[in-house]
Amino acid sequence: MRPPRLNPLFASAIGLKGIGPKLDKVLARLLRPGAATANAEARILDLLFHLPSGLIDRRERPKLDALPEKGIVTVEVTVGKHKPPPPHLKRLPYRVECFDDTGSLTLVFFHAFADHLQRVLPPGETRFISGSVDWFQGSPQIAHPDHIVSADEFARLPLIEPVYPLTAGLSPKILGRAVRAALEKIPSLPEWQDEAWIKRKGWGDFAASLRKLHQPQTHGDLDMLTPERLRLAYDELLANQLALSLVRKHMKRKAGRSFAGTGEIRARLVTALPYSLTASQSSAIAEILRDMAAPERMLRLLQGDVGSGKTVVALLALAAAVESGAQGAFMAPTEILARQHFATLTPLCEKAGLRLSILTGREKGRVRSDLLAALAAGEIDILIGTHALFQDDVAFHDLGLVVIDEQHRFGVHQRLALQAKAQDADLLVMTATPIPRTLALTVYGDMDVSKLTEKPAGRQPVDTRVMPSERMDEVIDGLRRLLEAGGRAYWICPLVEESELVDLAAAEDRARALATAFPGRTGLVHGRMKGAEKDAAMASFKAGDITLLVSTTVVEVGVDVPEATVMIVENAERFGLAQLHQLRGRVGRGAGKSTCLLLYQGKLGETAKARLTIMRETEDGFRIAEEDLRLRGAGEMLGTRQAGLPVFRVADIVAHADLLAAARDDAGLILARDANLATPRGEALRHLLYLFERDDAVRLISAG
Ligand code: ADP
Ligand code: MG
Repeated sequence: MRPPRLNPLFASAIGLKGIGPKLDKVLARLLRPGAATANAEARILDLLFHLPSGLIDRRERPKLDALPEKGIVTVEVTVGKHKPPPPHLKRLPYRVECFDDTGSLTLVFFHAFADHLQRVLPPGETRFISGSVDWFQGSPQIAHPDHIVSADEFARLPLIEPVYPLTAGLSPKILGRAVRAALEKIPSLPEWQDEAWIKRKGWGDFAASLRKLHQPQTHGDLDMLTPERLRLAYDELLANQLALSLVRKHMKRKAGRSFAGTGEIRARLVTALPYSLTASQSSAIAEILRDMAAPERMLRLLQGDVGSGKTVVALLALAAAVESGAQGAFMAPTEILARQHFATLTPLCEKAGLRLSILTGREKGRVRSDLLAALAAGEIDILIGTHALFQDDVAFHDLGLVVIDEQHRFGVHQRLALQAKAQDADLLVMTATPIPRTLALTVYGDMDVSKLTEKPAGRQPVDTRVMPSERMDEVIDGLRRLLEAGGRAYWICPLVEESELVDLAAAEDRARALATAFPGRTGLVHGRMKGAEKDAAMASFKAGDITLLVSTTVVEVGVDVPEATVMIVENAERFGLAQLHQLRGRVGRGAGKSTCLLLYQGKLGETAKARLTIMRETEDGFRIAEEDLRLRGAGEMLGTRQAGLPVFRVADIVAHADLLAAARDDAGLILARDANLATPRGEALRHLLYLFERDDAVRLISAG
């Protein structure tokens, strides 16, 4: 149970001054994007961990001819002319000119209420304006200033004020007030860190550090390396590492079983394969078999770049479980992928005498109940499926091995649910996401890792080109030549808008345009399609009935059509590098020479340019991931949420990388001395786990 003194922190933010149910929703969207339920509330805790990203320093008021390139400023100006948009062009912004004795500044408002602006910005009057400066065609402007106040009001404002990341519908004033109210609610907490360690580091306690972070006095106080920031980052990283160590210990403690296997089925499978295994595949299989044969429970990660051939490794491991009389489960993150595994593995399994079935959300009624009966009777050896495999009523006769494909696509909660279901089964998780070492540590802790370091022989490098989308005509011409010569290509439309429907409309438009250019050959798949429709489109692309597959990113994971040799990605600048790498991995799988075209729109910034350049330079997924991390920081990498990576609220994986290593060692030491967190410090550490919402792990302790 959560320590009662934390309760005030987990209380809803509703009721803080100015926060009603409606605003709480807005807050929740900003503060808890990863929350499990859509209507999760924003809590006091969420406000506390929402740290300032800047500060308004009203002590300093630059003249208009001395405005900085960027950043938040406060200026004293005289209001000039109002320039509403012409009536027939409501989408254009409303502008207000302002000036002082050195220059001018434009205030910009979209969707403005003219009456309101007339009231707060009367021409000829003095106003103090705070906001973020931007430059447009050489002139400074501030869009939607944070504050517009008269001289009287200004005199009453604090001279220094933190600036928080905001979202639509939330004003800085209200958020700031809510955070200040939340700070009042911090209860007294036990110290969970080692006293000597924090003393040596010169860190204060949790509450004091948090308060200080919310009250920056200088820009230096916002740095990632202030003692306060480091203290809280270390807290968070320690919570993360403790939780992972607990999960791992818990799993290892449950006695596993020994699956030695006879090797018979595996021998038949290897004979049936149309290729021989790579050296990496063989050594990964040997490591897995060694773990399976040992009495301890296996907990192993198989990491292998896109196309390195993880599926067959999984199959051989599953076969070893079956040889020992048990069953295997093979879970994929999407329906498409589960069907594809089923389709490619069926012929092999038939030859080897393995009974293979599939269960997804789509198997219903009679089919489903027959399947469940056969599964419970042990008449199915290997069950492939989506997370439908772990619904409550799915009961295996004797589940020995669970393989999770593309496991980063599953959330931490799903993984824990699954581990509960799998009881004492061995666990093999596979990922193609080449997670940099630092991040891997935050996701897996000290899991055993096998790596596929080489690709199957005969693969040709993919020729990657980066092009502006203005050259679309050339792209279409090239595509025409390819399709006329009988080739196959993917065309990926990005998810760019916040709304899936808008994106979908864009993808559909693109598909229509391409279908006009290439009649009879173009198909479309997207995430909103019904399962059967998706399958049909994928199947006809696989069969070659359609040769141009327009898609949103649903093809990203795992899809395997060796005949496809061209991958075109629109708005490539909007994708994470890991995602682009995954997409590119869809081609270069067969004997043909493959090309990947990364189209970008508009002018690229420095970072975007550097990112796309890396894609052109290397196909090494690990290097790409390291560079991506370096260029963008962990928060943005891969779209953390979709990748199932932990979301850190305070810590920054790049800036705090050494703390992470220390936290890992610390977690190991703590649990070696106090496995059940039963000492006074252990009790305090339980507070920490709850505070950073790693409390799933606490339940594992009490479960024994
Ligand atoms: P991933 O690791 O991305 O899941 P897959 O398991 O889908 O890769 O394998 C990619 C492709 O490589 C498949 O078409 C598979 O049949 C083929 N493949 C796997 N292993 C080998 C090998 N040793 N030699 C040749 N082709 C292989
Ligand atoms: Mg795969």
